[in-house]
Amino acid sequence: MDVTLVTALRDLLETPASVAIYRCVGEPGQQRWLTRARLRAEDTVATADSVWVDPDKLARLEDVPRRHQCLKERAVLQDRDQKQWITYFPLATEREVIGVLELQTSSRPSPSSQRLVISVLRIYHNFQGLLDYSERDTLTGLLNRKTFDESFLKAVSELPGRAASSGQEERRQTEVHPRYWLGVLDIDHFKSINDRFGHLIGDEVLLLLSRLMRNTFRFNDLLYRFGGEEFVVLMRCENEEDAANAFERFRHNTEHYAFPQVGRITVSIGFTQIRAGDSPAGAFERADKAVYHAKGAGRNQVQSHATLIAQGQMSEASHTSDVELF
Ligand code: GH3
Ligand code: MG
Ligand code: MG
Repeated sequence: MDVTLVTALRDLLETPASVAIYRCVGEPGQQRWLTRARLRAEDTVATADSVWVDPDKLARLEDVPRRHQCLKERAVLQDRDQKQWITYFPLATEREVIGVLELQTSSRPSPSSQRLVISVLRIYHNFQGLLDYSERDTLTGLLNRKTFDESFLKAVSELPGRAASSGQEERRQTEVHPRYWLGVLDIDHFKSINDRFGHLIGDEVLLLLSRLMRNTFRFNDLLYRFGGEEFVVLMRCENEEDAANAFERFRHNTEHYAFPQVGRITVSIGFTQIRAGDSPAGAFERADKAVYHAKGAGRNQVQSHATLIAQGQMSEASHTSDVELF
């Protein structure tokens, strides 16, 4: 959608030097600029940062002061240097300002051009709201289960195939391949929280836990509420140790967070690496079995499916075939 927006604006305005959308990403206090779409006069297609970019490589909000100011003040700002004009428009959702649209032009944009941009941004804003409504869980704002299969299959399609010939295999070893991990998170004894404090407080716990997830995992990890008090994380990282550390950090953060009225709660987490040819249900089942094991072993812990298999604590047998159709 961001690409469509910059393309539409370049077509509608009189050949601007560049139109770009920058989103602020990352934890509060350490946010950075991610280029979502940028189109210059001479470009045929828009460019963008990869969603998997290392956040440390992105500019900090304060590194680009005028853009930062536009974000903070939620106001249109305009600058002029020797060669061009730069106009900054804030991009907001219902809840917050999420980024800035930056327009570079050789002459000062006319008032009618500025009104045009603002009108297009209003449509963008409404459309974003509709998209959120269909893709996100209403209570927590995390992605919903419906969108999981698509993201999962996209991740699988980026894995090296199982049937690669040896020549291809050699070549592939020199390339860096993405590795994806799926984690299932289940709150411990959540039924008793509802029983003791009521469903409303139970719902607040779910909401606060989802915030904790957002603040603990990276901005480009995909976070889902699968219904009830079960959450799923789809992340890309290099090895099992990094994945385990991220889940362990979340387990630790949850255990040490003081939930209003309720006090302390804990989560049990199971995770698995996503394999070439995996089905969403097959990978989910592996992670879920690891959660089941964590529950049996005392809760408040992270378990890796592969480690449990290697230790002979669990068998590989699956009820869900890799080729099952949905
Ligand atoms: P365990 O440690 O074994 O996971 O124990 P548990 O009590 O969490 O057990 P289980 O996962 O089976 O229970 C889930 C409970 O979550 C059942 C239901 O009362 C509650 N629940 C499910 N959906 C919601 C919701 O949307 N809001 C609230 N407040 N509670 C929910
Ligand atoms: Mg459960
Ligand atoms: Mg539970």
